[in-house]
Amino acid sequence: MAKVQLKNFIDGASLEATGGQTYELVDPVTGEPYADAPRSQPQDVDRALRAAQDAFDTWSRTTPSQRSRAVLKFADALEARADELVDIECRNTGKPRALTTSEEIPPTLDQIRFFAGACRLLEGRAAGEYMEGFTSFVRREPIGVCAQITPWNYPMMMAVWKFAPAIAAGNTVVLKPAHTTPASTLFLAEVAAEFFPPGVFNVVCGLNHEMGAALLESPIPRMVSITGSVRAGREIARAAAEDLKRVHLELGGKAPVIVFDDADVESTAEGIAVAGYFNAGQDCTAATRVLAGPRIHDDLVSALTEAARRRKLGGSDDADVDVGPLNSAVQLERVSGFCERLPDHAEIQTGGQRFGDRGFFYEPTVVTGLAQDDEIIQEEVFGPVVTVQRFVDEDEAVKWANDVEFGLASSVWTRDHARAMRVSARLDFGCVWINTHIPLVAEMPHGGFKHSGYGKDLSVYGLEDYTRIKHVMSATGQ
Ligand code: NAD
Repeated sequence: MAKVQLKNFIDGASLEATGGQTYELVDPVTGEPYADAPRSQPQDVDRALRAAQDAFDTWSRTTPSQRSRAVLKFADALEARADELVDIECRNTGKPRALTTSEEIPPTLDQIRFFAGACRLLEGRAAGEYMEGFTSFVRREPIGVCAQITPWNYPMMMAVWKFAPAIAAGNTVVLKPAHTTPASTLFLAEVAAEFFPPGVFNVVCGLNHEMGAALLESPIPRMVSITGSVRAGREIARAAAEDLKRVHLELGGKAPVIVFDDADVESTAEGIAVAGYFNAGQDCTAATRVLAGPRIHDDLVSALTEAARRRKLGGSDDADVDVGPLNSAVQLERVSGFCERLPDHAEIQTGGQRFGDRGFFYEPTVVTGLAQDDEIIQEEVFGPVVTVQRFVDEDEAVKWANDVEFGLASSVWTRDHARAMRVSARLDFGCVWINTHIPLVAEMPHGGFKHSGYGKDLSVYGLEDYTRIKHVMSATGQ
């Protein structure tokens, strides 16, 4: 089969990178190349930024109602082409087709529609006479051109979390997808082109070291937002500081899952397996770090080990697949490395190795016997690896839960409502789930504390992050 040839999307047109340079995209299921993506150069980034700057002039002056209608029509068009989008996303990531169709497409469409509605409700907090003879009010305005950088774990959904609020709020966008997974973002831009004027939504693909700096160092973007690693977040915040750009960072997590002795063993283990192995654990909120009460620990480990063994691995089109491959050979090596470097006191209950000999699959894994300062407890694995530690009491559980650099998501499992409320107040994470883990809704904010970054995705808070407020004060006479 001929390899797909992808192109950048700039100023409403599909364009090759300068000099026609490309790089290969690899199918994570087979490990074989399947497409060529444009290898953008600084000139391509500059072209996209200028297009976004020109488009901002008119797009920022459209009414919320006009933008809302455009975004809603885009969502409808995307829904009509959802099968194509699923095809592209599965090819790009190796995700199970059935799960992508049922678990990713409906929320993605809902999130787009949420921002279409929410942009009509943006408000300044106050208007009135705060000094005699003067009237003040607050205008909420778009910021300008937004540079947006997305990761490879949920390429489609993360693109939507970035560009939908930015564009709905009246900004224009230059989005750089992760280099391994640009295909679905390009498809989104092509579908959107029917509803947004040229230059409102631009996508440039390429290798970071060749074009990342051009995006960050240009004076055109007034905001940069990224979902990715802490390392990337630091580099981007540093580069943005030079020009004092607004920064919005979602940098991953190491979610604690606190299971008290009174929790139901079977349903908790199944809940952890679902939330720990979904998307092969490549999820910044994944339920990866279980802290179990002294009496439930052993039964929970047994039940979780069974639940991990029941997970079916396979390619996008295999039947009843729960877990697909990791995104790349690099990520497979990274995940394998964590298990190879486990200390002697650790015990692998199941998994701990690559699955099969083609593609980038890794077995759902459970590791026990770990100490709080072990590497696998402190660092984000971003693969299907769940650790279980035994705590003595509530104080130790909370202490260990908070004792990581991350602060994105967490969960508490107990039948004791007062305890759940008490612990949720003490957890230093941007989200606490009680007796569940991983569900998201468009209306609620997603974002972390500490090294998980700052700024919120989704919700009105996420939309407001893409706006600036201006005080207008008018002399009105006595
Ligand atoms: P990464 O942070 O390097 O990549 C994420 C995005 O940031 C990609 O688009 C990448 O090209 C871009 N990027 C990275 N450095 C940049 C820079 N200096 N300037 C501009 N853009 C830059 O992620 P990775 O190295 O592929 O993965 C390593 C680890 O990152 C993973 O194992 C995981 O722990 C974490 N991660 C977290 C998330 C998340 O959802 N928060 C997503 C992906 C990766």
